[in-house]
Amino acid sequence: MKIRAAVLPEVGGRLEIAELELDAPHAGEALVRLYASGVCHSDLNAIDGTATTPCPAVLGHEGAGIVESVGPGVTRVRPGQHVALSWAPSCGACEECLRDLTHLCSEAWPAMGTGGLMDSTTRLSRDGEPVYHYSFLSTFADHAVVPERSLIPIPDDVPFDVAGLVGCAVTTGVGAVWFSAKVRPGERVAVIGCGGVGLSAIMGAVAVGAAPIVAVDVSQDKLEAALSFGATDAVLADRDPEVTAARVRGVTGGGVDYAIEATGRPDAMRAAFLSTRIRGTAVLIGIPRADAVLELPALSIPRMERRVLGSLYGSSRPERDFAVILDQYRRGRLPLDRLISHRLPLEEIEQAFELLTSGSSLRTVLDLS
Ligand SMILES: [Zn+2]
Ligand SMILES: [Zn+2]
Repeated sequence: MKIRAAVLPEVGGRLEIAELELDAPHAGEALVRLYASGVCHSDLNAIDGTATTPCPAVLGHEGAGIVESVGPGVTRVRPGQHVALSWAPSCGACEECLRDLTHLCSEAWPAMGTGGLMDSTTRLSRDGEPVYHYSFLSTFADHAVVPERSLIPIPDDVPFDVAGLVGCAVTTGVGAVWFSAKVRPGERVAVIGCGGVGLSAIMGAVAVGAAPIVAVDVSQDKLEAALSFGATDAVLADRDPEVTAARVRGVTGGGVDYAIEATGRPDAMRAAFLSTRIRGTAVLIGIPRADAVLELPALSIPRMERRVLGSLYGSSRPERDFAVILDQYRRGRLPLDRLISHRLPLEEIEQAFELLTSGSSLRTVLDLS
């Protein structure tokens, strides 16, 4: 079938809206009519080459829609079902999956790097030439063929734009607090970097009764937003991580139990680590460049029992945790819709990235209807 999509022709290139050919779903895959896609910093990393992805490619990994048809053997979804998309499908059989670490599936990760689906082949093409998928999803399009294990059924009354955000930013941020760090009521939390992921972490911390919750960012606007989401204190980040950390320790009486880092910058990771108190944990969720190195004062690790905790996709199990997060949204305890600051049609995707680069949006959602 023909679809409309935003194509990245090469790393560093400009996105172009094009008509592509999309093959029918193979075994274990489904065709989804997409209605919304968030625009995430990881997409920007793919465009500017911070992270490499095979090109030409259709980016986008934060979407929701309705299942239109399914390939042979599909049992998890049926046509007509509303779904949020997860970029962490899993084989269900590898050692990590058996350890309940499905988001770290050792079958899915190598396949993702090929730009194909789980069998490393692509369903997308243009004039007979292959076009690659991104994170198994490619949601900057009106339709996508994806692995059935990427499809998480959602209630029909959840808006697609909210469900889409649960597919990446929200689960990454909320999950870091709930599932990676397992923050408890009264524990002190700092969140460094208050974009869509960081604000989600703040919402997650508010929902579990953490206090204080310190928002840290270089942007006064982002700090204002963080306070409106329930952060109790705002700290302007300095260029010097030592200064930033001293400010966080100052407003928390000596440091936080959990410092959640959502930018992927080594200097911000260092600020997070230095913001922790005795037995405090730096929770690293931002994705750095592949060659980035983090330097930490080693003595304080045994001496203060400081910890560093990595968190990917909020250490979540999408099949279980999307439902938990969306239920808290429907009960009004996670105001996820407030993350959406801009809505644009697919044709204006370049503007969405300008908003992201300039830091003037919380989250932009593409309306694909
Ligand atoms: Zn993302
Ligand atoms: Zn697996």
